[in-house]
Amino acid sequence: MGLKIYLDGKFVPEEDAKVSVFDHGFLYGDGVFEGIRAYHNSVFKMKEHVDRLYDSAQVINMKIPLTKEEMTEVILETCRQNELQDCYIRAVVSRGKGDLGLDPRKCSVPTIVCIASSISLYPDELYEKGMEVITVPTRRNGPEGVNPRIKSLNYLNNIMAKIEANMAGVPEAILLNQEGYVAECTGDNIFIVKNGIVKTPAIHIGLLDGVTRNEVIKLAKQMGIEVQETTFTRYDLFVADEVFLTGTAAELIPVTTIDSRVIGDGKPGPVFNRLLSGFRELVKEPGAVIFTETGKKKKKCKK
Ligand code: PMP
Repeated sequence: MGLKIYLDGKFVPEEDAKVSVFDHGFLYGDGVFEGIRAYHNSVFKMKEHVDRLYDSAQVINMKIPLTKEEMTEVILETCRQNELQDCYIRAVVSRGKGDLGLDPRKCSVPTIVCIASSISLYPDELYEKGMEVITVPTRRNGPEGVNPRIKSLNYLNNIMAKIEANMAGVPEAILLNQEGYVAECTGDNIFIVKNGIVKTPAIHIGLLDGVTRNEVIKLAKQMGIEVQETTFTRYDLFVADEVFLTGTAAELIPVTTIDSRVIGDGKPGPVFNRLLSGFRELVKEPGAVIFTETGKKKKKCKK
């Protein structure tokens, strides 16, 4: 059975979930989105994702025609409509239908889409054995352009890097910023561990302020591990004791080779293992509840 998609105030079957060819999300990548996860009947870090969606929209000067509370309800109801309690959720807000020019003033109403679907994960083997990644020639676009903190529909920068990873036969690519500092991956943030200290690139390097990244930083601190949000280069990657990536879909995934250099002893490290178990516990904590005790009560979503 196909999915039911939230589209501008209604739930429609997947095959009818269509957006205009004049939508500036399609024509220009003018819009923002979120990738969210639900675990065991509750949405993980709902507030953080909804806040980031509205911040992204604010920076591109787009007013989402729903309150944050209404958006939260749309996300929950999309899970309910699809009877999903563990899923990956995509919320998208584009500038909406305009004309062929790029002026956003011609787009009167943003288009809102929410999709809840089963999650496709990296194979289990990669979590056990670790992942091979490369650094790629494509640099992360700088904060002075489209700031990577905006989770925008303009992912071409990341797609270029993904193509380079594909050509090299590896699942992820590390992008450096214009100065050669490590920024992040195409769809994940990056961490290294050196002499017991956990380090991750600081936000000003130019990267997405990842929800998982922030949870991992908090977890590490709670475990008494020192965390530094800092700058580092490929050199630091190669000599790290451990490297791992974080993201909503990937959670925490270990990296065991970078540009063919074996990292540490070539297997997931002890700090990574501790953080992964901590994270797996964290996602069990109740968040925004999808189905309430009273069953599959359906509430109406208004635009
Ligand atoms: N960086 C980029 C470029 C991303 O697209 C993502 C999300 N897939 C991340 C990092 C990880 O962010 P989060 O933990 O919020 O999913």
